[in-house]
Amino acid sequence: MYCCCHESVDAPYWENPGIIGRFRNLPGSGFLERFSALGDYMKVLIVGAGAMGSRFGLALAKGGAEVTLFDINREHTEAINQKGLEVHADGKVSVEKIPAISGIEGSGGFTHLFIFTKSIHTRAAMETIRPLIKDDTVLVTLQNGLGNIEAIREAAPRSPIIAGITNYPAVYLGPGVIRADGSGITRFQALDGADPAPALGFADVLHRGGMEADVVDNILHHIWGKVAFNAAMNTITSLTGLSVGLLGSTPESLTMAFNVAKDVALAARARGIDLSDEEVCDSLRSVLKPGMSSGHYPSMFQDVSAGRKTEVETICGKVLETAEQYKIKTPYLHSVYLLIRAIEDNYPNRKH
Ligand code: NAD
Repeated sequence: MYCCCHESVDAPYWENPGIIGRFRNLPGSGFLERFSALGDYMKVLIVGAGAMGSRFGLALAKGGAEVTLFDINREHTEAINQKGLEVHADGKVSVEKIPAISGIEGSGGFTHLFIFTKSIHTRAAMETIRPLIKDDTVLVTLQNGLGNIEAIREAAPRSPIIAGITNYPAVYLGPGVIRADGSGITRFQALDGADPAPALGFADVLHRGGMEADVVDNILHHIWGKVAFNAAMNTITSLTGLSVGLLGSTPESLTMAFNVAKDVALAARARGIDLSDEEVCDSLRSVLKPGMSSGHYPSMFQDVSAGRKTEVETICGKVLETAEQYKIKTPYLHSVYLLIRAIEDNYPNRKH
């Protein structure tokens, strides 16, 4: 049996379809059950230590792992090494000591390579870290979008892969500085029917470091659900300039968001993933409750505002490829994809 910690008021993990390990701090329980020798020695390289990579790297370090942050942004890694990683979280500022590198020369012996670049950079990052990959090196991805698993598998054909999603938020504020407010949920799975122990061990270390996680056995369902959410929320806030809260309180943009998300669910079902329209709409509604994320702008909005390439190809483009393969029509998704692409192709000439 693989168990970790669960609590009395929540349904036990065996009654939650898909959940095989739950690492939560649930209010009022005071009951944490940890099982077995989880959290064996982990030496982790975060590959892409921007907002999310830094946040998760820090949690793993606090949970007992030996962590190095790797990022090609030298200004960022130098600032971290000189002054520490400055973390703005829930009204407090802390400075954390954690080593950072901007090239992999001279480093090695990592048990885990945790990829946290934007999904459009996964393939390039995998090429860079290829010399560090051994057959027993665990590759981890919690990135948004589709195609990350395939890019990792291609570069690491025999290594175990832990793949998942997270809605913990983080923002890169400048070299050596991130914002890491609030909490979220992270779900992942050891792929290809592999032994779940490495995934449970990983969750345990994250949890010791202050983050909650579920280990599941239906991760594609969650990945496609997150893609539906991002395809709707990220594109529509970027196209309209509305915050998440305003998007939700404006009937026209909310209708559009539901339609885009339902197009993604249709494509998911075409390829055999049981993702209902209701689920994807509920997931959008869940962040639109009063007080939730109201002033938030997703990362695609920030990319568009800064004139950077967005993740639209991996979030929308990959779904459109599936739709084409199964000959299904996804007009709302197609429309937002084309509009984001049109913006991206014209950054220097756009008027704001
Ligand atoms: P980010 O831009 O802050 O960080 C990505 C980092 O990767 C950058 O610092 C960049 O310099 C680095 N990088 C790029 N190519 C590299 C390479 N070849 N080798 C090493 N480093 C490289 O992005 P982020 O916001 O942390 O997002 C990372 C992923 O997490 C994305 O897929 C995003 O959609 C997803 N995500 C983000 C959030 C959030 O709140 N920011 C929440 C959930 C999921």
